[in-house]
Amino acid sequence: MLAYIGLGSNLNQPKQQIKQALIALNSAKDIEVVGLSSLYQSKPIDGSKQPDYINVVCQINTHLTALELLYVCQNIETQQGRVREKKWGARTIDLDIILYGVQVIASKKLVIPHPQMMNRAFVLVPLAELEADLKVPVLGPIQDLIAKLGDIELRKI
Ligand code: AMP
Repeated sequence: MLAYIGLGSNLNQPKQQIKQALIALNSAKDIEVVGLSSLYQSKPIDGSKQPDYINVVCQINTHLTALELLYVCQNIETQQGRVREKKWGARTIDLDIILYGVQVIASKKLVIPHPQMMNRAFVLVPLAELEADLKVPVLGPIQDLIAKLGDIELRKI
């Protein structure tokens, strides 16, 4: 199964955090990282006073189920010292499953396509970099989603 994971960090050397999480993902059983977008820098979504975020989207090939993949992602977050505090608070590392093939999932633990992806330039722009013609299940062509975003405050680094 081809899946996309969005990674973000704004604490404790964000680029290093992302690199470490990518290595952990690629080392996990039944996951191979097969594509990687550029790194992007953006302001916190709630406009609060916290450091800028670094984001990247990676493409993986996996034999895991979507839920098994979520657990791998959450383990990596825990390994890298993420403490779940407030919803939009600063974090050492965040891994979100953006897409899992063309599957649509709406369970208590997992919603795919990721429920916020259409609102987030730091997900859509790197995703389009990896697959410009992508048709997102339910939501439609990636380029249409980007066009609907309005002002994009995102810097490729
Ligand atoms: P966050 O604070 O953004 O890491 O959100 C974590 C929570 O979102 C977890 O409890 C997950 O079960 C849930 N969740 C729902 N859908 C997804 C998804 N597509 N990727 C990652 N976490 C998800």
